Amino acid sequence: MDSNKIIEMFGEIAAKIESEKDYITELDSILGDGDHWVNINKGYQKIMSMTDELRGLPLSKLFMNVGMSIMSTVGGSSGVLYGDAFIKASKVLKDQDSISFELGYEFLNEALNAMMNRGKAQPGDKTMIDPLATAVSAYNTCLNSNVSRVERAEIISQAAYDGMLATKSMEARKGRATYREDKGVGYIDAGAATMYYQLEIMCKYLNN
Ligand code: ADP
Ligand code: MG
Repeated sequence: MDSNKIIEMFGEIAAKIESEKDYITELDSILGDGDHWVNINKGYQKIMSMTDELRGLPLSKLFMNVGMSIMSTVGGSSGVLYGDAFIKASKVLKDQDSISFELGYEFLNEALNAMMNRGKAQPGDKTMIDPLATAVSAYNTCLNSNVSRVERAEIISQAAYDGMLATKSMEARKGRATYREDKGVGYIDAGAATMYYQLEIMCKYLNN
């Protein structure tokens, strides 16, 4: 996956996020303060406004710039968590001009570690980390087994979906849903839903 493909991928994610405004806002209004869609959408709109300058950059610089822009333009927990994740993960792309399936794993694993460190959260805490953690784990399994490209894209996407859906029955241990008496049980976490949208699309590109 080269920089043109990455920018095409960002465009697809931006469109998907934009189309889920009502659903994501409803979820974050129940569990949080209702602004998660605004935050994540602002991030992807910002990326879309930068595509001309991003296109010519080495990949590590491309993701570094994306991370720094998200950090400075997006509010809420999402701005810091995604900003930091893109910045830290950009380092695994040093001196690379395309992202192979193997490198995609290093990238997502680094993003996961950055998010867990920054947010002091673990899988199971009912956050955006849940679908990322299940996806990274399935990705690792795929790397060590003989599955076809088509199968591995399906396996990783399904794992991300399962991780998102699992947040429905979890009690929140991080984020605003912890303020609720019921800890948000019965509702999917908004940040987990938008993470799943991104992973599903990324996975498709990483396997092409
Ligand atoms: P805020 O909660 O500050 O309003 P957003 O609404 O943009 O920020 O994002 C909320 C999402 O952030 C939650 O749905 C959850 O997935 C995620 N989140 C909140 N706190 C943490 C944390 N400490 N670690 C990881 N993810 C978190
Ligand atoms: Mg919020």
